[in-house]
Amino acid sequence: MLRSTVAAPEVAISDEILVGGRWRRGTGELLEPIDPATGDRIAAVHAASPEDVHIAVRHGQDAVDDPTWRGLAPHQRASYLYRIAALIERDTEQLALLQTRNTGKTLAETRALVASAAGTFRFFAAAAETREARVTPARGDYLSMSTHEPIGVVGAITPWNSPIASDAQKVAPALAAGNAVLLKPAEWTPLVALALGRIVMEAGIPPGLFSVLPGPGATVGDALVRHPGIGKVSFTGGTATGRTIGRNAAEKIMPVSLELGGKSPNVVFADASLEHAIAGLLFGIFSSSGQSCVAGSRIFVAEVIYDQLLRRLVAATRALRVGPGTDPRTQVGPLVHPDHRDRVAAMVDGARLEGARVHCGGAAPTDPELGTGAYYLPTVLDGLDNSAATCQEEIFGPVAVVLPFHDETDLIQQANDTSYGLACGIWTSDYRKAWRIGKAIQAGTVWVNTYKQFSISTPFSGVKESGLGTEKGRDGILAYTHQKSIYIGL
Ligand code: NAD
Repeated sequence: MLRSTVAAPEVAISDEILVGGRWRRGTGELLEPIDPATGDRIAAVHAASPEDVHIAVRHGQDAVDDPTWRGLAPHQRASYLYRIAALIERDTEQLALLQTRNTGKTLAETRALVASAAGTFRFFAAAAETREARVTPARGDYLSMSTHEPIGVVGAITPWNSPIASDAQKVAPALAAGNAVLLKPAEWTPLVALALGRIVMEAGIPPGLFSVLPGPGATVGDALVRHPGIGKVSFTGGTATGRTIGRNAAEKIMPVSLELGGKSPNVVFADASLEHAIAGLLFGIFSSSGQSCVAGSRIFVAEVIYDQLLRRLVAATRALRVGPGTDPRTQVGPLVHPDHRDRVAAMVDGARLEGARVHCGGAAPTDPELGTGAYYLPTVLDGLDNSAATCQEEIFGPVAVVLPFHDETDLIQQANDTSYGLACGIWTSDYRKAWRIGKAIQAGTVWVNTYKQFSISTPFSGVKESGLGTEKGRDGILAYTHQKSIYIGL
């Protein structure tokens, strides 16, 4: 028996996919997404095949070239996005529950992700209607102007960790810019993307402009990237996959955005409020059960407070409540899938072999109430050098490794000694120091006395092997356009 869960509305799940404006069974393999809190199958989806990708591209091209879409003024295109935002909000509870069932995330978190998705559609609607063309009266005998044209048909490939938010971050700016979008969600979590497909169609978007093509990355994702009719791919996922996609895109000289992995440092100085810092460390690594690209997975602590902070962090970690995402008391839900839980467990076993001390966690819970769910206890390790594999490789689970630092120079050297550069947290009461360290650490996002805060109006990107290109922000829409310059003789 599972712990009591909240009453929540029933969720309609379809076994069909959206191919070029039509709902039908895909011609690919059968996907059987599960509820990771129980291990139960919750749906059977007939996934797309490379042939379905081809059909969707063809319909996407027709839809993008159709004057009923191409001829729309930006504010008219924006009206579809405003409608999509309103429909997402209308369906908040169903979408949040669907995502909790399919990913294990807590309902509080999936409700926030749904709200963020609605906000993203609204933000890019406004960005589309308020964008201005640039006109340069360079000399007296001509005018030159620079316009941004839609690319055509774009591919959006997303991971399983925050489905509706990462889907919206690609689909909204791509549609706002006038493109057709083919969305390929991750194999384990196709359901929310399919629900988004229903909403986009209900908003009245012309058929063919949006397809949802779940299926394996190696076949469906690969077919999408290589298809000659796809003019850009925006990808969020692991660095190894990003490298393959980047290589395939280079063959076509196709622009690609890559939002990849991380091993982010979360740093505590001796002058920080330790109470706030510990809350930020817990949230940084254990929210979403650590399955977050920006997880603060390397915790650097000033030597002088190391023992005290480690003791308090371990005590606070032990107190976290592990359970199903539908239970409002849960702080740490299951991992997305038993296979992923086993991968995380194997990495912690590897840390033990490297000589790590495991202060808490380091195993699946034994609580019989958690039954056959894909749970793993929040884990705190130390005793490793930053060069150890455990400190260098992304674990993507509820596992923090704690490391001491001697002074600012030592900290910056260790924090930057990684192939990743996605995010960083700094806890201190000295804002000059925060600025200095924030400038020195190689990361796309730096949080000072806060962690994992996001605003759609603030650009997001990674450096080094954490990514290529920028999402969000008013200019995020430009990533889905070609710039064109037109000169007019006077
Ligand atoms: P993944 O790379 O295994 O898969 C991501 C997506 O790519 C899936 O839809 C998958 O089917 C597809 N894919 C796999 N192989 C492909 C191929 N050869 N061609 C085309 N598509 C292919 O990643 P995951 O395990 O689903 O997600 C976890 C990873 O995502 C972590 O590394 C995490 O850090 C990263 N992530 C990054 C961000 C960011 O914004 N930087 C956000 C969330 C997650």
